[in-house]
Amino acid sequence: MAKKKDNNEMRCSFCGRESSSTGMLLHGLDAMICDSCVEKAYEIVRENVQKEQSSFELDIKTPKEIKKHLDQYVIGQDEAKKILSVAVYNHFKRLKYHSSKKDSKDVEIEKSNIILVGETGTGKTLIARTIAKMLNVPFCIADATVITEAGYVGEDVETILTRLLQAADYDVKAAERGIVFIDEIDKIARKNDNPSITRDVSGEGVQQALLKLLEGALVSVPPQGGRKHPDQKMITVNTQNILFISGGAFDGIDRIIASRMKANVIGFTESRNRVEIDKSNMLKYVMPQDLKKFGLIPELVGRFPVLTHLDPLDKEALRKILVEPKNALVKQYQKLFEMDNVNLKFDDEALDAIVEKAIEYKLGARGLRSIVEAIVTDFMFEIPDSKKAVKDVVITKELVLEGINKSKMNLAMMSE
Ligand code: ADP
Repeated sequence: MAKKKDNNEMRCSFCGRESSSTGMLLHGLDAMICDSCVEKAYEIVRENVQKEQSSFELDIKTPKEIKKHLDQYVIGQDEAKKILSVAVYNHFKRLKYHSSKKDSKDVEIEKSNIILVGETGTGKTLIARTIAKMLNVPFCIADATVITEAGYVGEDVETILTRLLQAADYDVKAAERGIVFIDEIDKIARKNDNPSITRDVSGEGVQQALLKLLEGALVSVPPQGGRKHPDQKMITVNTQNILFISGGAFDGIDRIIASRMKANVIGFTESRNRVEIDKSNMLKYVMPQDLKKFGLIPELVGRFPVLTHLDPLDKEALRKILVEPKNALVKQYQKLFEMDNVNLKFDDEALDAIVEKAIEYKLGARGLRSIVEAIVTDFMFEIPDSKKAVKDVVITKELVLEGINKSKMNLAMMSE
């Protein structure tokens, strides 16, 4: 029903505005719609879709499916991937169960928050992020080091949930079954094994504050976060179904593990039963009591029933990280070059040299990107304006070394 005014001017079939007072008028078979009605309609559709997604339709993936997905992005770390896959699967089963539970006398399935122990740059955040993406649930990363007890300079623990709400576009229901990754949980350990007498702003106090979130409580969350907006209206978030994954390097925990194991071995008379210990990777044997000894309060450790470790990345793993994951670094740069119609290749020796430099500079997986960037920057600068059409770029070992020498990376290492 395209409406025409007497003067024959077209108008929007929805709001009635004339074409001259709209930005654009779209013609349909028998109607017209103006740009602002399109926008309004889009908003209505989006809100409805969001509501539908919030109303419990969970597509639960099996642990094997979750692990298979992780395998595409995360190299190695088999144990962590397996344990997390099961924990996440159980988490979603639990969500489903509780949403259908009729009787309060039914069995209560408790939440399995997860703690990951592993050197920095071994894939802790990557695993958590990959899982969240796959499950299509709101996900946020919070840094434990910036959280302080209420009243001190820093962020309140509730701002963690502000981030989650933001990630969920303020859909509270969606946020309430999201995943929060708390990074550097080891940095809020108390400084020694004894409960502190004096106040410990960044350590024990923060751990106590975190407990409240982990326990599954109704928490008042400032929608904008921070303490700069004291007048903002609070949003209540129930943390009962939020999955918390935390990670930390726990520097020095290997010694705690070793001394516990040594103590156990001394008390052991049957030497035949002794197990061979892999001294190069003590994190493998991490137990909840080691985290307590490191300085996490027992209540907090208790709130993370799933504990697992990440292996240090050796040469072979770093090399695989460069080329194998679905969004491997080499593939990313190849895509960028491809957009300039250039075929980018790294020869085997070049890949080896990149890995060796990452190890030499103690940069781990995180350093691979800066090294590759240093190598290809000149090409990326020159090629788009080059008079001669460049078709192929082959990165050799020499180019790797040259690129690193030219960059500031070498100097940074020398000044250490
Ligand atoms: P952390 O353990 O400190 O949380 P991240 O997960 O942030 O480390 O890793 C930093 C980067 O290094 C990732 O974004 C990824 O590019 C790379 N990386 C680290 N570990 C792996 C791994 N096991 N597989 C693939 N890439 C990895």
